[in-house]
Amino acid sequence: MRRRSNPDLPPPPELPSFTIEPEEGDVPSVQERHAGTGLQRHDAPLDEDAIDPDAAKVVRRLERAGHQAYLVGGCVRDLLLGGRPKDFDVATSARPDDVRGLFRNCRIIGRRFRLAHVLFGGGKVVEVATFRRNPTEAETDEDDDLLIRSDNVFGEAHEDALRRDFTINALFYDLDRRQVLDWCGGMPDVVARTIRTIGDPGVRFREDPVRILRAIKFAARLDLGIAPAVYDAMVMNRGELARAARPRIFEEILRLMRAGASHRSMWLLWEMGCMAVLLPELSAFLDDDEATEDGSARFFGMMSLLDRKMKEDGVADDIVLMTALLYEPLEEAAAGVRDRMGAVNEFLDPVIDRIAMPRRIADAIRRIMFMVPRILAGKIGRFARTDLFLPALDVAELVLAARGRSTSAIEALRREAMPPPPREHRRPSSLPRQRGARR
Ligand code: ATP
Ligand code: MG
Repeated sequence: MRRRSNPDLPPPPELPSFTIEPEEGDVPSVQERHAGTGLQRHDAPLDEDAIDPDAAKVVRRLERAGHQAYLVGGCVRDLLLGGRPKDFDVATSARPDDVRGLFRNCRIIGRRFRLAHVLFGGGKVVEVATFRRNPTEAETDEDDDLLIRSDNVFGEAHEDALRRDFTINALFYDLDRRQVLDWCGGMPDVVARTIRTIGDPGVRFREDPVRILRAIKFAARLDLGIAPAVYDAMVMNRGELARAARPRIFEEILRLMRAGASHRSMWLLWEMGCMAVLLPELSAFLDDDEATEDGSARFFGMMSLLDRKMKEDGVADDIVLMTALLYEPLEEAAAGVRDRMGAVNEFLDPVIDRIAMPRRIADAIRRIMFMVPRILAGKIGRFARTDLFLPALDVAELVLAARGRSTSAIEALRREAMPPPPREHRRPSSLPRQRGARR
């Protein structure tokens, strides 16, 4: 029975559309599939011990079932550059449902594009994505707008490489042959430690302006150079950042800071004029050292201290990161104002709107901005028992250290506030790690 659509109901949500090519009678071999695609294979045996054994298991099982499967993206890049990958992603010719059929511990996620997550103990997730390609013009909305809106088209391995952002992010690793598959000159760029877009940088940044922030993140975190034409295109297209999906912008700002390279990232962001688009309040503060009495030195001092803290502790609270980022201009706006809360709110409201800062974070920043001057004045009072006391101590410590002042009082307060360590440290091992949706 067909249900009549009810005009009073809201329109249905935008659902992903998949283009699935018809199955061919004769399945071509991998060699045939790669013929004429400009593939370069490089013998580059990666350190077996550095490769996640579960990710390797996923690749091998997919291959045994007759699919192509490779390690791909950030993990290959990081291993080639001598770093430790955060996570291991797999790209495969298998469709999401085929992947699910092969792994019991698998769930399909994603609304815009479907990915398989294979879950392992300790919350480990190996993300398995079917090869995709950029949709052709006929498959996208007909307009001049380059902004990618739909990318749910399955494709071949080389097409999957070419849709990626930077050459160093588009390398595939063939575990069996211990070879790196390169369709876009990523290997020479790894060797030269250079960030280069795949294709025209202006086009790639206009398609997805968040790539500008990603380039800054990789340059800062991995200490890479940016190819001059790419750098120029980032500066030229920085205004496009205002058009990107705001939650992605917020997430990417956090990632810049979580990478433990806040100092370098924020400096690049400012220098390239991207900060003037995303956080004009902070950018203007940094521009005006005379009015702020060396405010930029205090800000960048805080950023390096944060980086050191990230290296020592491994993680930092997002609330501490965001408060530290905005502390100096916020303090400038609120210092000496009778209605401190009002001044903080007035500063934060447009920021919340522009970068889609979640309420939870914004409220925490407000409360910490209220607590920090009291902590610095030694007037702790009742908020020593609130959940934001420890993050507020972290911020107060950064503020003091960036001004070259002693932080011993903060250390003492932290020791008092810290509950004694639990006798048994229990952590649910079956809890899957949440990974941020990419786009
Ligand atoms: P990280 O180590 O920070 O996770 P990553 O390169 O793995 O870095 P992810 O965001 O995990 O970054 O994305 C995985 C891969 O997906 C990238 O290496 C890249 O090939 C591709 N990718 C991610 N974001 C984009 C994008 N905006 N445009 C094109 N390709 C992208
Ligand atoms: Mg990654």
